[in-house]
Amino acid sequence: MKISDIGEFGLIKRLAGGTIFNPNGVIKGIGDDAAVIMTGQDRVLLVSCDMLVDGVHFIYGKIPLFDLGHKAVAVNMSDIAAMGGVPRHVLVSLALPSRFTVEEAEELFNGMKSLLSRRSVNLIGGDTVRSDVFTIDVTILGEALIGSVIMRSGARPGDVVMVTGSLGDSAAGLEILLNDQLSGRVSADDREYLLAAHLTPEPRLDQSSLLVKLGFVTAMMDLSDGLAGDIKHICESSRVGAEIYLDRLPYSQCAARVARMAGKNVVHWALNGGEDYQLLFTVPSGKEEEVIEAFCGAGLGAVTAAGRITDPGCGVRLVGFEEDIKHLAKGFDHFSG
Ligand SMILES: [Mg+2]
Repeated sequence: MKISDIGEFGLIKRLAGGTIFNPNGVIKGIGDDAAVIMTGQDRVLLVSCDMLVDGVHFIYGKIPLFDLGHKAVAVNMSDIAAMGGVPRHVLVSLALPSRFTVEEAEELFNGMKSLLSRRSVNLIGGDTVRSDVFTIDVTILGEALIGSVIMRSGARPGDVVMVTGSLGDSAAGLEILLNDQLSGRVSADDREYLLAAHLTPEPRLDQSSLLVKLGFVTAMMDLSDGLAGDIKHICESSRVGAEIYLDRLPYSQCAARVARMAGKNVVHWALNGGEDYQLLFTVPSGKEEEVIEAFCGAGLGAVTAAGRITDPGCGVRLVGFEEDIKHLAKGFDHFSG
């Protein structure tokens, strides 16, 4: 059987069975944004790792090494934010081609260190090997009180689906990088904003800690693959369905302008673009206004109610103009729910 027959998540499911040989202290193993391990009476350790591979997750030469270092750390911090935790330490393993210079490796580390220092997170170890394929693997350790951990499994029918920030900005930034036709046509401000969203995403740690403080979030994860695919993980873990309202998806005017120029659909980017590293979470019905006011009061940017959790068996449904759905569903088997 080829891996492509069952996909990445099908493979994980097959490999993840029978992996816990001493369940003492293991609250969550494989299957959430990070593993959750008891370390004291009321404290847990959050552990996650994320690998970035040249040619798969980034293209060497298309992204400045400083930004790549930032991104490698940011995507890991994002997984700790997704659990409602605080990042503390990282370990970094590098596979470097022999053509790599010392200065290049230092530039990569400088990008990591600038985000690590800003968030008071230590780099405490790792490994370095030579390889034909440039690869960065970051392991992150975070902390949380056991009562503050927010997993993917707590969503209930009737809960409101919310997302932080705007969706599709990273996809728009990638379009600018890859589509030569756009060069010179996108305004300098749009270009700067969208490239930053793609190259140097900011982990939503402040938003996460505010949500933990509010205390009523039922499920949470970070958006790495895109809302349409990622909401399925919450549905699967929580054994529920979900409706996403296409007309409520938050996207920026910058992304909308670039989509128009490129002949692309900004709603499609918001649903499937991926790499936004915003937080996707659910709250009990009626609590959405409280979240919006709290974000506004704390100056933490936009937060939007974009859907609703439904009964199990309903799958993931996109609700909107029929034409939109037909267009958006084309070629995406994960839309079948
Ligand atoms: Mg994640």
